[in-house]
Amino acid sequence: MPFPVTCRQMQDRYGHRISYLRVSITDRCNERCTYCMPQELQEWLPRDGILSFEETLRLIRIAGELGVSKVRVTGGEPLTRRDVINFIQQIPQIAAIKSIGLSTNGTLLAREITPTRTMADALRDAGVQAMNISLDTLDAEVYSQITGRDLHGEVLRGIEAAIAARFGQIKLNTVLMRGRNEDQLIPLIEFAGARDLILRFIEMMPVSTSDVLEEHNFMSILEAKRSIESFYGSLIPETEFRTNGPATYYQIPGRKQRIGFIGAMTNLHFCESCNKLRLTCDGKLRPCLGSYLEFDVMKPLRAGASDEELKQFFLDVVDRKPQQHDFRNNYQPNRKMIAIGG
Ligand code: SAM
Ligand code: SF4
Repeated sequence: MPFPVTCRQMQDRYGHRISYLRVSITDRCNERCTYCMPQELQEWLPRDGILSFEETLRLIRIAGELGVSKVRVTGGEPLTRRDVINFIQQIPQIAAIKSIGLSTNGTLLAREITPTRTMADALRDAGVQAMNISLDTLDAEVYSQITGRDLHGEVLRGIEAAIAARFGQIKLNTVLMRGRNEDQLIPLIEFAGARDLILRFIEMMPVSTSDVLEEHNFMSILEAKRSIESFYGSLIPETEFRTNGPATYYQIPGRKQRIGFIGAMTNLHFCESCNKLRLTCDGKLRPCLGSYLEFDVMKPLRAGASDEELKQFFLDVVDRKPQQHDFRNNYQPNRKMIAIGG
């Protein structure tokens, strides 16, 4: 007899077990990163085209009943959505969710909510444990060229606010860009090391535009690792250290400092341990970032589907999860990263 839907865990036909849901809560952003957003004028989704927080929480609860224990809130820039703190503080009430992460560009973390509390403090109190902050360069001028905005100072203040708020874990994420930040690898490592933060280097993916893969833009993690090793000596692999994602970690010789590499394009084993499912802000379930497949869960949700029917929807989506992403095979971007949620 088949298991009732309520008892099932989400596992695809290749053995990937889904325990991690990335939830994008907005397609809007206060920056315009070249690799994330197309250059042409951006049209935002209409408000009723975005899942309400109530709808999102219901879907997180359903995912929790199917084995998801970790949620990461992302966007767009999640901190630009009104009432984000109220939303996040309701997630820990879902018993299955044991870990809450947030991905942010950091620009709003230092904002004062009251004279004694920053946005970072409020996020920690709301239950965020794992904070990922994007920082591609320490050069303010280059930062503006990459992000289209002059907000470098805000990000640096945001990082200090996050440190002061004492999250369980803070990671800095740097997208590798030839000609833009290849001279920043060592300064960024020193910056992270001085603050006891984990720094990760990420290969660009052709999500929003395929230009990022051209020789003059793309830099592989292998090349970055070689350049770092020419400065520090051989990095020491930390095969036991994992944080729920596809990064591989190393220690800087002679230090306690850990750095990570995320090589979606060049690491052929990248998808083997994938445990992720994505929920976009416009209510699509996406089994893989690097595949066109996405399934509209907003429609049944708004048409009155029961919890059991929605669970079956999740299970059917996971059953369609591909073995690996399709970025290497002439993937043509058709949806903006900002609208999917990184
Ligand atoms: N706005 C937040 C931020 O910038 O961290 C959260 C959303 S952003 C889409 C999440 C992550 O995706 C960021 O670390 C960003 O650098 C990364 N990202 C965006 N476009 C990318 C691309 N084409 N390739 C690789 N990483 C990308
Ligand atoms: Fe905004 Fe983050 Fe995309 Fe940059 S990477 S445009 S900060 S959503």
